[in-house]
Amino acid sequence: MLEHIKTLDKQYYMNTFGNRLDVCFEKGDGMRLFSTEGKVFYDFLGGIAVNALGHSHPKFIQALKNQLDKLIHTSNLYYIENQAKLAQRIVENSCADKVFFANTGAEANEGAFKLAKIYFHKKGQEKYEIITLDKSFHGRTLAAVAATGQEKYQKPYKPLTPGFKQVPPNDFGAVEAALTDKTAAIMIELVQGESGVHPMDKEYVQKLRKLCDEKEIILIFDEVQTGMGRSGKLFCYENYGTEPDIFTLAKALGGGIPIGAVCAKDFVAKAFEPGDHGTTFGGNPFATAAGLAVFDIFEEENILDNVKHMSEYFMKELSKLMHKYANKVLNLRNAGLLIGIELKPDISKTIFSSMFEKGFLTSLCGTTMRLAPPLIVTKAEIDLFVNALDMSLMEE
Ligand SMILES: *Cc1c(COP(=O)(O)O)cnc(C)c1O
Repeated sequence: MLEHIKTLDKQYYMNTFGNRLDVCFEKGDGMRLFSTEGKVFYDFLGGIAVNALGHSHPKFIQALKNQLDKLIHTSNLYYIENQAKLAQRIVENSCADKVFFANTGAEANEGAFKLAKIYFHKKGQEKYEIITLDKSFHGRTLAAVAATGQEKYQKPYKPLTPGFKQVPPNDFGAVEAALTDKTAAIMIELVQGESGVHPMDKEYVQKLRKLCDEKEIILIFDEVQTGMGRSGKLFCYENYGTEPDIFTLAKALGGGIPIGAVCAKDFVAKAFEPGDHGTTFGGNPFATAAGLAVFDIFEEENILDNVKHMSEYFMKELSKLMHKYANKVLNLRNAGLLIGIELKPDISKTIFSSMFEKGFLTSLCGTTMRLAPPLIVTKAEIDLFVNALDMSLMEE
């Protein structure tokens, strides 16, 4: 079975993902995934921070089935009940006043760039530069790549969308030095996920907020990975005692159904007027039904409490391992259930593979093992993971 799928993939699919991990899943249940070859895996990556409710959550599946029986897509030429209601849920639970739905994280970020630019355009001010951070990740569309501070993603696509400039993270002086009278926006991830779970300092973020207020610059938080409960708060900015003017969501918002969102304060959201932005699929009845179901289940099952308790427990158990293997586990970083385990460089690949062999899915960002398990993870499942990692570290 797997060999056949691999053959088809090699023959017909563009080779953007190269040699993937040697597995294909056909069924899921909670934290578990079942492969075509009959092997069970525990999913500690959650489809890269997407499957917040785990796999095949019964209430979630039921909500999707109910919507499928009614309607999937109509277009944004018409009013859409679920779209309006999901926008309401986001606004009532965040600092945003208005929402626009896209389909992916990159697309949500594109919307945020356009909104920041058009805001100044409509005021008759020539401001279009956007400052982002080194080691950031904002997606794969051209402007998102220009915003992403990683040479490997940018290099083949030069010349990039102009106006983007990167500075080192957690370095306020570098931001000040990069400012010009053309600076429209600063966009950051509060925790850089793709580069190995690097949280920004609270003081740094608060200084950015103050700077943006003083200089009239739009502050954008890319919460595509950190949003929807991942950090223990519904939105990660809540941990920082400060609010953005715009934030973007995607990954966990639809529980696996593609959806992205641009969420903004009214003063900036108002800059979008009829015809200024749009989408065919964005916010369709099916995708927004998924988002509504995610919100419902988060509340019914106290998902945020679970993130708080499980992340504390997880970090406590991982700290024990770090002490036990001080020369192999170099550092631990986290925001709620977004966890980075920095491994000694020469063993990181082996540890990652050994965990995969033992049936635990993680990802490797450089030499840091990144975990973003479903937010429904239990102590028993964390224990399984920690015991397996203990074994892997011991064997190495
Ligand atoms: C994953 C990610 C994106 C891109 O999302 P896509 O849905 O792949 O376009 C953007 N920003 C951050 C912080 C992400 O983690």
